[in-house]
Order: sequence, then C-alpha cells, then structure tokens
Amino acid sequence: MPPIRLHVDHDLCEAHALCTEIAPEVFDLGDDDLAHCDESPPEALWPKVKSAASACPRQAISITET
Ligand code: SF4
Repeated sequence: MPPIRLHVDHDLCEAHALCTEIAPEVFDLGDDDLAHCDESPPEALWPKVKSAASACPRQAISITET
C-alpha cells in the first residue's frame, strides 16, 4: 500500500472534535481550536484515520496517496 498524506483544511474545520475522539493517536485540537494531525500516520492507524475523515461533519480531512 502506498503511504498516505493526511491534511486538515483549517478553513473548514470547526473543532467538532469527532476526529480526535475516533483517532486520538493522530488528531488533536490545538490552542487555536483547530484540529492538527500527524500528516504521515502509520499504516496500522489508517482505518481509524479513514473513519475520522468520514465522520468529520465539515469534510475538512483529506487523505491522499503519495
Ligand atoms: S471532525 Fe472535522 S471539523 Fe471536527 S475537529 Fe476534526 S477536522 Fe475539525
């Protein structure tokens, strides 16, 4: 599987924090009230990352294969 690159669009994120609940190993809320993420999460966490992206009500999380 090719590596993935993860990105949170801060113009869309509204700090609903579903991503941090689903995949706390990868996402956290910063002092700026925006989600920040590990841009290259390990493969073992990809299922959680994909669940978080699907759950984001703002569709702020993008996953691209590199
Ligand atoms: S679920 Fe989406 S809107 Fe909510 S904090 Fe995560 S990226 Fe931002």
